[in-house]
Amino acid sequence: SIGIAANTKGGEDADELLRNADAAMYAAKSKGKARCELFAIDMHTTVLRRLELQNELQRAVRNQEFTIQYQPIMELKTGGIAKVEALVRWEHPSRGLVPPMDFIPAAEETGLIVDIGRFVLEQACSQVQQWQVQHQGGRALEVGVNVSARQLQDSALARDVAAALERSGLDPQNLTLEITESVLMEDVEATIDRLKELKALGVKLAIDDFGTGYSSLSYLQQFPVDVLKIDRTFVKVIDGTKEDSALVSAIVKLGHTFGLQLVAEGVETADQLAALTAMSCDRAQGYLFARPLWATEMGSFLARGDARRAAAG
Ligand code: C2E
Ligand code: MG
Ligand code: MG
Repeated sequence: SIGIAANTKGGEDADELLRNADAAMYAAKSKGKARCELFAIDMHTTVLRRLELQNELQRAVRNQEFTIQYQPIMELKTGGIAKVEALVRWEHPSRGLVPPMDFIPAAEETGLIVDIGRFVLEQACSQVQQWQVQHQGGRALEVGVNVSARQLQDSALARDVAAALERSGLDPQNLTLEITESVLMEDVEATIDRLKELKALGVKLAIDDFGTGYSSLSYLQQFPVDVLKIDRTFVKVIDGTKEDSALVSAIVKLGHTFGLQLVAEGVETADQLAALTAMSCDRAQGYLFARPLWATEMGSFLARGDARRAAAG
């Protein structure tokens, strides 16, 4: 990423020029890397806002302002709940609930994502272990935890995962780490080593947002993954006609050929659910079943599942 600053006013000194070029370089980075940007005056505001966000995040980690919502993932064959995905939220003291997309990039840049990720792992594992005992009548309840690029590069990740499993007593098989497809493609060789290290702990690995990261299909064989989560953009276009579901159907077949479990993300309509069931997709997640829920709401959701099972005998 390259930032360019010109001596436009004529009066800029070296420091100012460097600062401007730096701001332009950050603009280039945030526009998707590997490009160059000319400095513009509003870039300073962007830089200031970013610094402010980074400071606030530091405080938020100290004050433990993070919390988790859980979204159920349903088994299509049985209609029962098989898993929950842990989704982090920032309870900002004045701005209210901040969604992950608004702070994860800054948390990545500062490295604070490692602390936030550790919190999510610990909290989600012990919460799900507790639910597993209280609900599900002895059936497994799995949990999916998202892992970002920076966490995957950090050698502390495997240690943090092992610690969270041990403290919670959760069976490693019931924990899935979700990694976005584009992240896997960044440094394939190093990534494969990291994934193997994690697999050795007995956890499952999922490729998140599958279909958006342009991964070469040959990597599907090399990555030691267990689950493909089909991105919402592909599921969204399913409206009951054959043509629209052809792509998803092909992904499901491909995934099954590799022995992977298929999960559809962002399922919002009954038509989509019917189409996914017809193509033998294994699991689905989306607003049709439930939005991300607070822990107490998720507890009630699980209790309703218990009651349905009891009624069905
Ligand atoms: P993701 O892992 O792909 O999570 C699914 C996202 O889709 C969630 O957004 C969820 O609320 C949303 N979603 C679920 N069902 C539907 C639906 O039917 N329709 C629509 N329109 N959306 C649906 P959310 O919670 O805003 O999270 C966004 C992303 O932030 C996640 O995408 C994940 O990449 C990242 N993220 C969330 N929690 C964590 C975390 O603890 N650590 C890291 N590193 N990243 C996280
Ligand atoms: Mg995910
Ligand atoms: Mg996703």
